[in-house]
Amino acid sequence: MNAPFPLSSEAEGKPGLQLLIAAPRGFCAGVDRAIEIVERALERYGAPVYVRHEIVHNRYVVETLKEKGAVFVEELDEVPDGAHVVFSAHGVPKAVPKEAERRELSYFDATCPLVSKVHRQAERQIEKGQHIIFIGHAGHPEVIGTMGQVEDDQMTLVESVEDVARLPFGREHSLSYLTQTTLSVDDTAEIVSALEDRFPQIVGPKAEDICYATSNRQMAVKKIAPGSDLVLVIGAPNSSNSVRLVEVAERLGTPARLIQRAEDIDPAWLEGVGTIGLTAGASAPETLVREVVARLGQWRSVEERTLSSAEENMVFKLPRELVD
Ligand code: SF4
Repeated sequence: MNAPFPLSSEAEGKPGLQLLIAAPRGFCAGVDRAIEIVERALERYGAPVYVRHEIVHNRYVVETLKEKGAVFVEELDEVPDGAHVVFSAHGVPKAVPKEAERRELSYFDATCPLVSKVHRQAERQIEKGQHIIFIGHAGHPEVIGTMGQVEDDQMTLVESVEDVARLPFGREHSLSYLTQTTLSVDDTAEIVSALEDRFPQIVGPKAEDICYATSNRQMAVKKIAPGSDLVLVIGAPNSSNSVRLVEVAERLGTPARLIQRAEDIDPAWLEGVGTIGLTAGASAPETLVREVVARLGQWRSVEERTLSSAEENMVFKLPRELVD
């Protein structure tokens, strides 16, 4: 059990708990922008505003927007004619805006600009005649969106080093690679290295596709995990960047749990635990972090310490039509 310094609050009755809070954590600039797009669309046009797919992977955010009048759908055929619709931060295949235009729907694209950047890279690589190897997780909306920027036979998905070994290409093929923005920095480096070993001719993106928020949150977990007995990550099971944070802590030998809300914490997890590391994925709001701190405070006398590993000041512009 980690007990790096005595907790004065132990004297107050409840056993002490040291809480190491990671910074940066929680909302990134792309999530902030996506939520603001829905909120501004609701203010400007009134409810309902339709949102294709969960705007960001967080139940609390989705429920809060629902209360304000957002209606979440999976496909455009669920959106009535004449309605306003927002596309989620993860990005959409090219066919989706095309379909919205064909139906003359008024749409706002909340795709994170860092995901859009990957889409544009894909177009450029195809223009150069390269076949793209895309590193990502099958079925994730961002992967579906990015793969939907090109024809089916122009991009091949790999999820692991083993997948690289099975690729049906040789050194004579013109190849490039791109990645999902929310991957594990360490796993991706291994897959890229396997690609470069097998295909020395392969060309990568100019700058890494894994976004600043994903890398910073993984780096921050590397700072809190070694001194913690348990790491709690606030995030949804379908949030790629949140699940990666759990993996980062576990790889450092610290047990980690993904929780959506404070109520998910089982008090039994605290047995024998003197220090908890706490972080939140890029789609989890700070209010959920405070909720967890309050919950832990019901059982223990909590002493908080924030361990900061990077500063973030990224802000993305809103679509022109939604700016006053
Ligand atoms: Fe954009 Fe990264 Fe946030 Fe995804 S996690 S919305 S890519 S900044």
